[in-house]
Amino acid sequence: MTTAELPVDPALVEEASHLDPEAAERRHAELAAAIERASRLYYQEDAPELSDAEYDGLYRELVALEVAFPALVTPDSPTQRVGAELSGQFGEVRHTRPMLSLSNAFSHDELRAFDTRVRRGLGLPPAPEPAPGLSYIAELKIDGLAISLRYERGRFVRGATRGDGTTGEDVTANLRTIQAVPDHLPTPATLDVRGEVFMPKKEFERINREREEAGLALYANPRNSGAGSLRQKDPEVTAHRLLSAWFYQLIEEGVSPEGDGQAGESVDSAAVGVSSQGGALGRLEKLGLPVEPHRESGLDVDGVIAFTERWREERHGLAYETDGVVVKVDRFEQQAHLGAVSHAPRWAIAYKFPPEQVETVVEDIVPYVGRTGTLTPVAHLRPVKVAGSTVARATLHNLDEVRRKDIRIGDTVVLQKAGDVIPEVVRPITERRTGAEREYEMPARCPVCDTPIVRDEGAVRHYCPNLQCPARVGQEFGHFAGRGGMDIEGAGWAVLSQLLERGMVRRRGDFYRLSVEDLESLDRFARKSAENLHRAIQRSRRRPLERILAALGIPQVGWTTAIELARWLAAEVPAGDDWLRRAGEHLARVATANPARFEEVEGIGPTVAASLAAWFGDGGPGQGVLEDLADAGIEPELPEPRATAAGGPLAGKTVVVTGTLEGFKREEAEDAIRTAGGKPGGSVSRKTDYLVAGESAGSKLAKAEELGVPILDEAAFRRVLAGEEP
Ligand code: NAD
Repeated sequence: MTTAELPVDPALVEEASHLDPEAAERRHAELAAAIERASRLYYQEDAPELSDAEYDGLYRELVALEVAFPALVTPDSPTQRVGAELSGQFGEVRHTRPMLSLSNAFSHDELRAFDTRVRRGLGLPPAPEPAPGLSYIAELKIDGLAISLRYERGRFVRGATRGDGTTGEDVTANLRTIQAVPDHLPTPATLDVRGEVFMPKKEFERINREREEAGLALYANPRNSGAGSLRQKDPEVTAHRLLSAWFYQLIEEGVSPEGDGQAGESVDSAAVGVSSQGGALGRLEKLGLPVEPHRESGLDVDGVIAFTERWREERHGLAYETDGVVVKVDRFEQQAHLGAVSHAPRWAIAYKFPPEQVETVVEDIVPYVGRTGTLTPVAHLRPVKVAGSTVARATLHNLDEVRRKDIRIGDTVVLQKAGDVIPEVVRPITERRTGAEREYEMPARCPVCDTPIVRDEGAVRHYCPNLQCPARVGQEFGHFAGRGGMDIEGAGWAVLSQLLERGMVRRRGDFYRLSVEDLESLDRFARKSAENLHRAIQRSRRRPLERILAALGIPQVGWTTAIELARWLAAEVPAGDDWLRRAGEHLARVATANPARFEEVEGIGPTVAASLAAWFGDGGPGQGVLEDLADAGIEPELPEPRATAAGGPLAGKTVVVTGTLEGFKREEAEDAIRTAGGKPGGSVSRKTDYLVAGESAGSKLAKAEELGVPILDEAAFRRVLAGEEP
């Protein structure tokens, strides 16, 4: 394809055309490199440095440059590709048909230009003439991670990310943990379905709160948080994040046109009687695959524009993020006629909402003391409405950030919501300065307990080192009892502050030593409410070990680490009576005698190992904590230990599973391999020791045969797990 077929901003082309060819080539190289880097951070690491608007700006400039200088279009230009190269972390899945991207529109004029191209392509008269038979369907564009699912005879067998459009990453096990992804369809249909996995806004907030408390880097927005959560090596981590999905494309014999991924030849659709996008969405719903409900069909371009205007405001009230509207020619026959350019179909376009920014004034900057003692400067703002809610506070993260952005008390600033959720001060409007603005300084002493504030050499954070600082203790206990911890319903701040102030809770185990009478003595408590809280506390006695570990609030230890630490601990400490006490003693011994052993835990490096050692070691804040909980009668549910390579019938072996097994779901088979000491692999190579092939095994089976990798059927797999000869 040529770049000329991409939607393009004429003003940018005009500007580019004034460059001399050498300057154009240099600029092209610069833009391509910047886009390359941004794509890698965005798609592979789920941690972008640019905002989407900044990225889109670079991309549009690149397109304009290529239109002005067609010689610059090379096959490896970012305009000719989809997504990014694969990270290599997962097995690979080749898509049955390519997964394309979409061309973008950033204004109503560009939507009209799209309408013009469509009409021309279909041989219809230009607007404002009526175009009989042409109508658009508008869908909300969900800002998540594109996925493709394969159902065979009604069973979910495989799921992949878009990857580079041709080959995606195998995230089947992770997808199985998502409720919106059904295991079975109500009919034995064989089909591919495509959609978007996303993280609801509330869950994004929860996870970032948890990450902030654990001292981990925050996700920039729900999209990256969702993508990062799905692309986890360990499906259990995915399972702890509440992800959901909406579906928008069905590829089924007799439904979607064949060809380039979404368009091509039209086929006989009588089989299931679907001939339009609207019809396909209806069929998806009947199959139990969730479809975003706010779509509208039968629109002309004016109707499409009205739809984008309405949702620009109303989207803020949704529980999930949408970053625009996808407009599609509704009839498949017309889609097929229009076809696609290399990276996107011609019959659809993604209209992107403009980023919503407002102005307000920083009335003050106030330091808050967090659970780990960190002082966070928070901007107190003149209240202002942005992206659907009134904002009066915005975290400025740390002093370096305040200085980098040069935000001063009294400044007029630009404010937006990062990913529609978290208020972010973008920059000061320096032209509005009067000279009365003040630079912010971190206080020398803790605003809560007056202990001198510390900043470690080379570190970003300032913190209160006093372990007994009431601000720290209060939040530590709040975290322990809260949703990310032991999840004791009703143990909110009003209750907690009384328990702490009256000295009724001094250690974590004390929660479990409270009687109904103790609780009844609290302000605004009666017999009934005391009994309810008491029951909630008792219910939390038996929690999974990883939850207890995450509840402790060890710096650097979030859910992912807690899960692995729990598995390691379950393998280290023999099961039996008084397990938790023995585990506590074991951790203290390792912390003091041989902290490097913590690096044996999957995913833990020297930094987290040091943090664990400091916490559980001599004089550390975690000394005796598990023993105290054991005294209080806490009995954790233990995870399956991560089998060590030393034991087990599959010790040191890599085993790949493919196809559908009768007796195991995919992740169960993989867990069984781990328990037997082996390593589940994603793709077959010479290093694979066994391929377990279930029903309808495909390319992996062929590959294994070609490489001479031993192949096990389900019965042989069971024999191997039992330590017998296959
Ligand atoms: P896109 O986001 O512009 O649109 C295409 C995608 O929209 C489809 O692949 C599909 O996954 C999704 N989609 C959601 N709802 C849909 C629906 N109802 N119907 C059809 N598709 C729907 O294109 P892209 O190729 O996925 O990504 C490019 C965009 O990603 C950029 O415009 C930018 O916003 C973002 N990006 C940002 C950075 C960064 O550094 N911030 C880097 C790379 C990409």
